[in-house]
Amino acid sequence: MTSPVLPSQGRVRPLGLAQVSITGGFWGSRQAVNAAATLAHCESWMERLGWLANFDRVADGTTAPDRPGWSFSDSEAYKLLEALAWESGRTGDPGAEAAIKRLTGRIARAQDPDGYLNTCFGHGTQPPRYSDLEMGHELYNTGHLLQAAVARLRTHGEDDLVRVARRAADHVCRTFGADGRPGICGHPEIEVGLAELGRALGEERYVEQARIFLDRRGHGTLRDIPLGRAYFQDDIPIREADVWRGHAVRALYLTAAAVDVAVERGDDELLRAVERQWERSVARRTYITGGMGSRHQDEGFGEDWELPPDRAYCETCAGVASIMVSWRLHLATGDVRYTDLIERTLYNVIAASPSPDGTAFFYANPLHQRAPGREADPDEVSPRAEAGVRAAWFDVSCCPTNVARTLAGLQGYLATTDDDGLQLHQYAPSTVRAELPDGREIAVEVETAYPDSGTVRVRILADGLWTLALRVPAWAAEATLAEDGRTRPVEPGMATVRREFRAGEVITLELPMEPRFTWPDPRIDAVRGCVAVERGPEVLCAESHDLPHPGGLDALAIDPRHDPRHDPRHDPRHDPRRDPRSGPRAEPGEVLVRGRLAAPPDRPWAYSGAAAASAADVEWFDVPLRPYHSWARRGPSSMRVWLPIEGE
Ligand SMILES: [Zn+2]
Repeated sequence: MTSPVLPSQGRVRPLGLAQVSITGGFWGSRQAVNAAATLAHCESWMERLGWLANFDRVADGTTAPDRPGWSFSDSEAYKLLEALAWESGRTGDPGAEAAIKRLTGRIARAQDPDGYLNTCFGHGTQPPRYSDLEMGHELYNTGHLLQAAVARLRTHGEDDLVRVARRAADHVCRTFGADGRPGICGHPEIEVGLAELGRALGEERYVEQARIFLDRRGHGTLRDIPLGRAYFQDDIPIREADVWRGHAVRALYLTAAAVDVAVERGDDELLRAVERQWERSVARRTYITGGMGSRHQDEGFGEDWELPPDRAYCETCAGVASIMVSWRLHLATGDVRYTDLIERTLYNVIAASPSPDGTAFFYANPLHQRAPGREADPDEVSPRAEAGVRAAWFDVSCCPTNVARTLAGLQGYLATTDDDGLQLHQYAPSTVRAELPDGREIAVEVETAYPDSGTVRVRILADGLWTLALRVPAWAAEATLAEDGRTRPVEPGMATVRREFRAGEVITLELPMEPRFTWPDPRIDAVRGCVAVERGPEVLCAESHDLPHPGGLDALAIDPRHDPRHDPRHDPRHDPRRDPRSGPRAEPGEVLVRGRLAAPPDRPWAYSGAAAASAADVEWFDVPLRPYHSWARRGPSSMRVWLPIEGE
């Protein structure tokens, strides 16, 4: 099987790239750009900055104190390798295959005879191996190497990359096993790498080593640091924690591994602990975009309800990691809430990051940009994660390769099977061919322009008796399913059809795509008195490009009585000639709300004994909203997702 995650048991089984292919549409075009531009872009930046030559220097014994890159730069080569492996498996692209061989050759030469592989520690004048477990990222790097090897194993089979990874994993087990050194890595990742490599190779001891690392954590195993041990989740054992805290990517990579270990060991206590953490963190510590992480100082989760839109960090990598966690939980439980969150995160975090040409990326994903960023030089490394514009590369450049590997392997997150049929979770033009455990064959083609349209047609390609289940997102209150000449309403959750299908027939899911107001919990103080607008899976935003004057976003107030759901201009069938009072139809992808720029007069002090009154005699106008994922594509801009309500 050719999926990034392949549990030995669970409620549903993932389908991989041998069974699912995305043939176009929103995600197909992004996969194509990823393949054509992003992969080479990442390799060329790593070459240019000397991050790849670090491997050569170790191999040649020429390491020097001025080693370029952070201690985690090796991981970028591994994440790129993982992306290349999925891409090569997906399309057989000879360029991807050549890049894999090229990178693997250089990496393999840098491996020490005992399996240790790292370009920052343990050679020449470098600090000794594992002398900085808190911040040195050695095991973190190795974890990404193991994930790359998993991708290669599942799309190609054993090769040099897999052999390198196996030796590295053996070295980790020898060094940190039950009888070894009682350490853990400050940045979780080795755990999820070991668990999956263990599954892929049938090596139970790798899964056991992941469990050892998981259970060692949370006891003050690492040295305390100024940010506190919660930063690297060494404050509370994972089985006892109630919520995610500290550095978001660390917390989520760790949690992904916890699901893997729980599933492989039948450890229900651990699985329940993770579900509990997911529930509270999603209910109280997650942005409407699915983004996670409110604090810049530690790239971390805030307290419950601490979700400021302008100070949102929402690292792209945390979006990737959140998907990793939710997908594993879904495979274990079959619960649709996890695939709902995956959809939200895909459209509003992952899709937001890359530029249309695939050569610039968002690292942080704020929900409110107060001042436009400065146009980024495509030839320069951005020193900042939060610049308000997409950058070609970063000083800490974890996000571009994470986007690349996610997009290259995206077909692995679309569909699953159980003993009686097929479940479709994410809608894209695609084909799915799968075999059930009893040998029944399933073949369907999905035709859709989702999310531009809410119509999803599933065309049956082969006769057979089985159950088709289609995810109806939580936001889709009035969805319908048409099959066999009948149309019926379907509730959010899984809509199922079980019968004898005949090749050629079509089952049509109709999801309601009218734009809708979404109100925040009042305990999220930072957005009290505001409303957001969503359409299908997309969160929308107002951007300064669309306002009559550039500073207008601060003064924007909207009229909540003007519900865009009931505005005929958003109906693609709307004919303005028949209903001239309504005005012309909205542009495709655009949603109109009623707003005005009602700035109060400037005062020498922003506070006073009486509530500030906004200007009353300013005109209402149509404020165009667009998908958040496309913001700042028309040049630097200010932007906001949460729109203040007039009079609040
Ligand atoms: Zn990142």
